[in-house]
Amino acid sequence: MAIAQSNTAQWQALDASHHIHPFCDPKTLAERGTRVITSADGCYVHDSDGNRILDGMAGLWCVNVGYGRQELVDTATRQMSELPFYNSFFQSSTPSQIELAQKLSEITPGDLNHFFFANSGSEANDTVIRMARHYWHVRGKPEKYKFIGRNLGYHGSTLAATSLGGMKHMHDMGSSTLPGFEHIMEPHWYAHGGNLTPEEFGLRAAQALEEKILEIGADNIAAFIGEPVQGAGGVIDPPSTYWPEVQKICRKHDILLVSDEVICGFGRLGEWFGCQYYGVQPDIMPMAKGMSSGYLPISAVAFSDAIFETINEGGPIPHGYTYSGHPVACAVAHANIEIIEREGLVERVRDDVGPYLRERLKELSEQHSIIGEVRGAGLIAGLQLVKSRETREPFTAEDNAANICRDICLDKGLIMRAVGQAMVICPPLTITHAEIDEIIEKASAGLTETARKLGVA
Ligand code: PMP
Repeated sequence: MAIAQSNTAQWQALDASHHIHPFCDPKTLAERGTRVITSADGCYVHDSDGNRILDGMAGLWCVNVGYGRQELVDTATRQMSELPFYNSFFQSSTPSQIELAQKLSEITPGDLNHFFFANSGSEANDTVIRMARHYWHVRGKPEKYKFIGRNLGYHGSTLAATSLGGMKHMHDMGSSTLPGFEHIMEPHWYAHGGNLTPEEFGLRAAQALEEKILEIGADNIAAFIGEPVQGAGGVIDPPSTYWPEVQKICRKHDILLVSDEVICGFGRLGEWFGCQYYGVQPDIMPMAKGMSSGYLPISAVAFSDAIFETINEGGPIPHGYTYSGHPVACAVAHANIEIIEREGLVERVRDDVGPYLRERLKELSEQHSIIGEVRGAGLIAGLQLVKSRETREPFTAEDNAANICRDICLDKGLIMRAVGQAMVICPPLTITHAEIDEIIEKASAGLTETARKLGVA
């Protein structure tokens, strides 16, 4: 069969026969058939039926500079012609690796000046685990090997990254967890805050870290890891008091602080990195996604001067991936960062489109009582769907509210993601006011229809 000329039905049949999808219910997929995305431009994707759909999720939280950037295509083409691959093992480098590491040292905060390259957020977090444990070994404290993460935290899908994260359904898949990983409550005021103010609750949620440290002993703990805003957990942005208190607790107990910037990095919160938005300085910082705007797979882990110096005393580092610092991905990531700089996209999120999205979402929530909470920061937002705003009574998994809303919105030409019973928005940083208006208009129609379907209108 000439696959290039396939129509949607043919694509779907072939897909169903041969392709196993990540994070997808095979039964639902078989019933509905896959959606085949064939091209994209700016903030829009096109499917094989000719629909033009506004991508409110920037691919998978990653296409920060938008689709269709010829400059990135040209950069990749040039690098591929010149040197498509060489490794960075055994004392070799390529110019694009060196230049990207130097560029990253300019934009990362404080003394995060040293970078290890990988290909995905999951690999970056596996690197975090191995390197942090190695660091404590070199410092003569090998018993400091445990990690503390958070419920609903997401750090990837490899065995180690799944263990680091706090997604119960992932842990439950074939008992997919390793020993040495602990989890504390997520700092979600709306869900757990009770009568506390958000600021009081932020301190209370940070206190859960200290309680866990005292329970298992600081001498056994390598690091605490968290996303500045928990993305895949449903866009949980903590109260302003949370992160500074977490930092204080980590310093007090000599525990490394890891800020997982895979979603929040590269301008998403209106700062280069999410930790800057919350005013904390991590010791280790994994990053991916917006690093190349998803044009090619690449990730990195930033380490502080102090960790770098210690690791350098520890002899050879038996860790790495064939494609660590792939020259083409490095060149594209570098060019992508230059676009973010040149077009002032970080400032744009902070001063313009971030506040505008928030203002429009506030209006939206005033019109729809099915929205219990609007949360997020910068250009990432979550809308908690509830049965009753007064009592905060949530929809149950059986109600399936968010999935229903997601499908209705998709039919109207808007991609949002459903997480639990929340709708999530995370568009390209290049989104315009008119496109934000389109998100609001389509989401509004979708919410009305969802509420009607669920009998809460
Ligand atoms: N960390 C965070 C915060 C993420 O959101 C993700 C992916 N959504 C990952 C790590 C894993 O990245 P990847 O899918 O590239 O392995």
